Amino acid sequence: MVYSAPGTRLRNGAGGLAFLIASVVAWPAQAAEPDEAQLLGNVRQLTFEGRRAGEGYFSRDGSTMVFQSEREPGNPFYQIYLMDLETGDTHRLSPGTGKTSCAWIHPGGGKALFASTHRDPDALAKQREELEKRASGKGRRYSWSFDPHYDIYEVPAAGGDPVNLTNVLGYDAEGSWSPDGEHILFASNRHAYEGKLSEKEQEILSRDESYFMELYVMRSDGSEVRRLTDTPGYDGGPFYSHDGSRITWRRFTPDGGSAEVYTMNVDGSGAKPVTRLGAMSWAPYFHPSGDYIVFATNLQGFHNFELYMVDADGERDPVRVTYSEGFDGLPVFSPDGSQLSWSSGRTSDKRPQIFIADWNDAEARRLLGLDRESPSEAPAAPPPDVPRTKAAIDADDLRGHVEILASEEMEGRLTGTPGERRATAYVASAFEALGLKPAGDDGGYFQNFDFTSAVSLGPNNRLSVEGVAQAPVLDRDWRPLGLSAAGSTGPGEVVFAGYGIVAPANGESPAYDSYGELDVAGKWVLILRHLPEDISQAQRQHIFRYAEMGYKAATARSRGAIGVIVASGPNAQVKDQLVPLSFEAAAAGATLAAVSVSDGLADAMLASAGKSLGQVQDSLDTGEAAAGFPLPAVRVTAAVDLVPETGVGRNVLARLPAGDAPSDERVAVGAHVDHLGRGIEGKSLALGDEQGKVHYGADDNASGVAALLEVAEYLADLKARGKLPLKRDVLFAAWSGEELGILGSTHFTRGFGGDADRETLHPEIAAYLNMDMVGRLDKQLSLQGVGSSPVWPREIEKRNVPVGLNIVTSDSAFMATDATAFYLKGVPVLNAFTGAHGDYSTPRDTPDKLNYAGMQKVARLIALITRSLATAAEAPDYIRQEPTSRSPRRRTSRVYLGTIPDYSQTDVEGARISGVAKGGPAEAAGLQNGDIVVEMAGQTIGNIYDYSHALDGLKVDTPVEMVVLRDGQRVTLTLTPGARE
Ligand SMILES: [Zn+2]
Repeated sequence: MVYSAPGTRLRNGAGGLAFLIASVVAWPAQAAEPDEAQLLGNVRQLTFEGRRAGEGYFSRDGSTMVFQSEREPGNPFYQIYLMDLETGDTHRLSPGTGKTSCAWIHPGGGKALFASTHRDPDALAKQREELEKRASGKGRRYSWSFDPHYDIYEVPAAGGDPVNLTNVLGYDAEGSWSPDGEHILFASNRHAYEGKLSEKEQEILSRDESYFMELYVMRSDGSEVRRLTDTPGYDGGPFYSHDGSRITWRRFTPDGGSAEVYTMNVDGSGAKPVTRLGAMSWAPYFHPSGDYIVFATNLQGFHNFELYMVDADGERDPVRVTYSEGFDGLPVFSPDGSQLSWSSGRTSDKRPQIFIADWNDAEARRLLGLDRESPSEAPAAPPPDVPRTKAAIDADDLRGHVEILASEEMEGRLTGTPGERRATAYVASAFEALGLKPAGDDGGYFQNFDFTSAVSLGPNNRLSVEGVAQAPVLDRDWRPLGLSAAGSTGPGEVVFAGYGIVAPANGESPAYDSYGELDVAGKWVLILRHLPEDISQAQRQHIFRYAEMGYKAATARSRGAIGVIVASGPNAQVKDQLVPLSFEAAAAGATLAAVSVSDGLADAMLASAGKSLGQVQDSLDTGEAAAGFPLPAVRVTAAVDLVPETGVGRNVLARLPAGDAPSDERVAVGAHVDHLGRGIEGKSLALGDEQGKVHYGADDNASGVAALLEVAEYLADLKARGKLPLKRDVLFAAWSGEELGILGSTHFTRGFGGDADRETLHPEIAAYLNMDMVGRLDKQLSLQGVGSSPVWPREIEKRNVPVGLNIVTSDSAFMATDATAFYLKGVPVLNAFTGAHGDYSTPRDTPDKLNYAGMQKVARLIALITRSLATAAEAPDYIRQEPTSRSPRRRTSRVYLGTIPDYSQTDVEGARISGVAKGGPAEAAGLQNGDIVVEMAGQTIGNIYDYSHALDGLKVDTPVEMVVLRDGQRVTLTLTPGARE
């Protein structure tokens, strides 16, 4: 029997776990399998004395180990001992009375901490009782009670009186010092005893105290206690990484049924799972390099805990370490990483003792794939060499840049991916080759920015579909959508609502309404993914934006639905029936549940109404918005648990200097370098088997970046030849994050000058010229944003004389591209664009389709205008505009508010307003920049989609109430929408 006696307490074992281990009978004697030798050499037993031992932790210098062992006469429970690893001398640190657990040595070596119940007045009685139980052979079905007498104490390493560091009601244990010795990380259920629990929580506490265990940190003297986690279920067993930058621990599901290994920053932010094994994975411990984590899991069988390891980012599959039947757990590395110590039941009496072995770090890295490039770090290959180019703006040079940026190896340049890193590295090399000065962070060319890159599944996802005879399996039968709200929803009835699209009539395209008279309030809506298959191209173009998943969810929500269930249907021609788990920046903060289900599950649900999925989809795909219908026999309940992951994108910034020091003003020229990778749900327009392929983005926007490089080369050459008398620097920028919502340029403009709230960056940024899609020149070039400065018509006229382009201008400076980030900060902007085409946002946007002679002309025009602005005596004036009906996403709305929603928001609950038009209805109502709209016309606004959607419901000249958050206060405004022109 292992861990069967009362008093057994493992830092990393929940009550349920101790119970499970306790129910194991002796394993047959068996030598370790040879596989273990690949990582572990010279495996040997370290402790022998007493009934059992475990939880051995090295001192920071590796010379001593603190551990717990049942070896004290008269006390059946664990006490804490310190072993000198050089001499083998061992002495007891704990008082000898009561139960103890979870020791740790201060990095200075002079003291140790542990958890103990020795102040419990009944401690001795409990010892006697336990000894009697053992003598009688009872007490085997032990399950740990979270003895609230446990508190954390410290003692001198030489021995002495324990000093109490925690003294509140509740269980405090599992402590360890930070590597600098300043803080103690520990686990506690103390908040359950603060008298703030609901009735239901009280009931849970009475049967499972571990449910309330959370991670805490305090100063080394016990002061400044701060809570780090806040999720139901046992969080425990935390340890710092060797450098003190991260924490790893294990998180149980609320029912204690399984546990996964997590990591987070030391302030509690950035928590993410690194295992997704669906087993009991616990006792994680960082390798001193911080590159990987060793842990124990019962993946191999309910009672067979083995050691595994996983890379610290959790990006690869865990690799098995031990191959010994029976218990292996509680692993730790020696501080130099050369040894592994753990508790193992591979002893002659099958009771656990501490073992130690030599650790093969190189083999561990090989097995984990850490000897290869990480998928999310440096590029697998160095960026391609920058080709030799002519100083003049040249069509062949442009083609060379485009062919590299839009090549297979750039993988579509999705922000935060290796392809984006490779592309930005290429741009940086090109800037450097031109002799431009770095203008990014820390003296380099790059400027990093964080963004929410993805979501992953947390441990608590469940779907139940009552009335349909199956238990849906996650990732096979169903999966939450990345934009889903978290938490539990339902049980609720289900209504089928076709494609879930409501689009107004537009020109020749009739209105499309999947809902009609359907009552979906308080119910789930089952809808089809994408849009009807067999409709005209014109209608497809029109209703596409209403078919975005985020818009469909908002549509359902505005009708009172509690959640959406999405099925692909047999006609969808998708690679995966389940919607891939992806994250849309603009969809952050969704306010209703959204799940994707397999065709089989959807079919079973529809069968309850006597329909089949194929049949209803066939009739809908003709383009008719046939009426939906309720599924009276079905009840759906979902629990959604999504873990956001943060990615890092990077801009590339370089400067052509006017003088020795950076000038006070600069003219900026830019183009976005990022694209859609293999297609982002809701942005890609790939059809059929194009889906999932690399979206090369030759026109969007390798063309703009190639033109940027040619403009830079031309101006750098002019300057080198003394023909460019610069009055101000020229800043060249390749932005990332544009496709995710102009994230890179927004990061730049917000960070510029160090004050995110500055109204204007003008004239420090005298003007901004943008190129987004300049590779498909056909009849004419569009120059947009002309209304942002009086200088543009004159400049365009003058500089186009030698170039000779057919130009059409538009005034609005509100565009769905990076120029808008600058315009909102008071900077005159101009955007060059050669027009939309059928290959836009598909894998068909390839280099062979570009007009390089046309690009040459566009680049020449932009270069000449840049030269003119950079050499002019004065910065051009800025004209403040009201947003017009050309603003992104607002093309078809009938009402006019004069607000500019912030499309780059990722973490706001509500819709943040980044601009208010002068003289518009919003300004008249008192709306201000930075306000976050949380309610409009009685509807809760959870995000930008809700906001867009709520706008569609407003009436011209009919006042509505709007509630905004301003400096944390709710402010109610009365707004009277105007009419669009
Ligand atoms: Zn673009």
